[in-house]
Amino acid sequence: MSSSAVLARPEDPDLPEVYTTVESEVRSYCRSWPTTMATAEGSWITDTSGNRYLDFFAGAGALNYGHNNPNLKTALIDYLAGNMIVHSLDMATVAKTAFLQTFEQLILRPRGLDYKVQFPGPTGANAVEAALKLARKVTGRESIINFTNAFHGMTLGALSVTGNSMKRAGAGIPLVHATPMPYDNYFGGITEDFHWFERVLDDLGGGLNHPAAVIVETVQGEGGLNVARIAWLQALAELCRRRDILLIVDDVQMGCGRTGPFFSFEEAGIVPDIVTLSKSISGYGLPMALTLFRHDLDVWSPGEHNGTFRGHNPAFVTATRALETYWQNATFAEETVTKGRHIRERLEKIAAATPGVSARGRGMAQGLKFEETSRAAAICRVAFERGLLMETSGPSDEVVKLLPPLTTSEDDLDAGLGILAESVAAAHI
Ligand SMILES: *Cc1c(COP(=O)(O)O)cnc(C)c1O
Repeated sequence: MSSSAVLARPEDPDLPEVYTTVESEVRSYCRSWPTTMATAEGSWITDTSGNRYLDFFAGAGALNYGHNNPNLKTALIDYLAGNMIVHSLDMATVAKTAFLQTFEQLILRPRGLDYKVQFPGPTGANAVEAALKLARKVTGRESIINFTNAFHGMTLGALSVTGNSMKRAGAGIPLVHATPMPYDNYFGGITEDFHWFERVLDDLGGGLNHPAAVIVETVQGEGGLNVARIAWLQALAELCRRRDILLIVDDVQMGCGRTGPFFSFEEAGIVPDIVTLSKSISGYGLPMALTLFRHDLDVWSPGEHNGTFRGHNPAFVTATRALETYWQNATFAEETVTKGRHIRERLEKIAAATPGVSARGRGMAQGLKFEETSRAAAICRVAFERGLLMETSGPSDEVVKLLPPLTTSEDDLDAGLGILAESVAAAHI
């Protein structure tokens, strides 16, 4: 998502002319990887020339179960072949019933989570908009606390709680009613970052309106793989509880098992008041999003947050099958943690051998941060030439970010990490 990610040659000579003559300048990933993608299976993409790419980008986290996962595909094809209803706004459908029942049975109930499920428009930004609107409606307050380097999406509400200055500038109007606070470790662990927030809340001269909610990512994916410590998340949840501030966890990218457990906040043992999910919730790369909240926060009036594509049944079908396939027990989450540890060990080795490089991340959201910021993009470019897709993240695109599908085999993980190590050695600027 970081726009400037891996800028290729300005004219994109390897792409059909329509990309420059017809498609807007706003395009970005087809600049980073200037080749026409054709087919994909699991962790691999093949382009129209037959070149194969190991995909450590995975749709920015929308493909946790890989491309064209055969189990999910079968469910989808059967559904379509049966002339089952595809578009239905939020009418009752067989696919929607199955999804709600399965989500309650496999995800909410075993975790003791008392959440209602809202289907907003099928994008992460829309799930965030719904969360912010609901928090304001419930509390009657307008201000939201967000964190430095946060990323919550491109619509105006979501952008108002996003950190990146280039994205914010795109709004064209003042982005208001949000106050950024330092994320964990913002001051390099020297100051207790968190206390600033507590202090201004307490201080009658602090100038902070009582906020409706705090919105936070447990790991900031787009913001540079900044990982909040468990103790920091617990202290934040406790502060919100004591001060009657709603806690929103944006799990759009780190949810659906990216860090191991289904929800990324499970490890901290906290229960947010509101949770957003999108990216991998459909499991197949089909658009879908959820906003979850405590029963007593369900103050919506019917149709108050409407949308045409809130009942995309093919997405419900693959979402249900993904839950049945991977979330009946803890095995998949444990495998992800184990694979994540393995990735981290390999990254630590690269970092130890390379000055100015450090490893960071949690679960299977891992990466390398470069003091010399432009090296990260150079490495992604070299890796692409060698058949590995990775993007950069962070405010200066200084982090090489690895988001392989969680289903990636150990052999493929090792192959990709090998290409990464070679690319780090080969990329000089
Ligand atoms: C990707 C992302 C969003 C925005 O989702 P879209 O589907 O692109 O609107 C919001 N929050 C987080 C944490 C994300 O990673």
